[in-house]
Amino acid sequence: MTVGSATAAWFGRAARAALDSVLPPLCLRCATPTDAAGTLCAACWSQITWLSAPLCACCGVPFEFDPQPPGAQEGGAQSGTQYLLCGACLRQRPIFARARAVFRYDDAGRGLVLAFKHGDRLHGVPAYARWLARAGAELLESADIVAPVPLHWTRLAWRRYNQAALLANAAAALAGRAAVPDLLVRTRRTPQQGEMGRAARRRNVRRAFDVADRYRAQVAGRRIVLVDDVLTTGATAEACADVLLAAGAAAVDLLTLARVVRPAAD
Ligand SMILES: [Zn+2]
Ligand SMILES: [Zn+2]
Repeated sequence: MTVGSATAAWFGRAARAALDSVLPPLCLRCATPTDAAGTLCAACWSQITWLSAPLCACCGVPFEFDPQPPGAQEGGAQSGTQYLLCGACLRQRPIFARARAVFRYDDAGRGLVLAFKHGDRLHGVPAYARWLARAGAELLESADIVAPVPLHWTRLAWRRYNQAALLANAAAALAGRAAVPDLLVRTRRTPQQGEMGRAARRRNVRRAFDVADRYRAQVAGRRIVLVDDVLTTGATAEACADVLLAAGAAAVDLLTLARVVRPAAD
């Protein structure tokens, strides 16, 4: 599979930006000087809520405590590792086979995402990719295709690069997987959904995506890992998963840098 030439060009620019910014090393979040390039200062590191086991095996939500011994819950033991589901996933399984994220999208996490999203701090990409490869190791291991959630071309032109594509390419490269940055396309422009609630977001993104025609035949029977910067309501990523599953994908996993973690409803 070939990397889209436009995305390859952006990736090339990102690589050059990374080289240009080797000195002086600055914290990726607050831009104070640090000992090493492409990392966080100690203060920022300690403020980020890194998501780690125990996690719901499906949606990846962190458990506050080790819920039950392995195999004691529905789902049973899977190849010797803990396979536990949260209450929400037990009631209704999400469209994703599995979702994983590196850190929590809280006040500290938001600052780190926004620095990447709007600040052109592309020199953070190698660090973000390493974090994604670690948090999403299981997902990437079984991935046939790694693909980003797409931006509409008009927004892409304005923002100049799709940060999800940069993350997908870099994480796939670390894991030795095929990245297809133009697997999905936007079929129409959707309004910015910053202030929308979950239902409004779902309406907003319905039928907003499709599998690119030239990749349609390659999706059938494959496991896809979708990559995005943030998981909030999940409406956008669910709309992407919908069209991939409709095209015959065997399963769709979701890997993000940050995710909203709501307090447990039960
Ligand atoms: Zn910092
Ligand atoms: Zn869950």
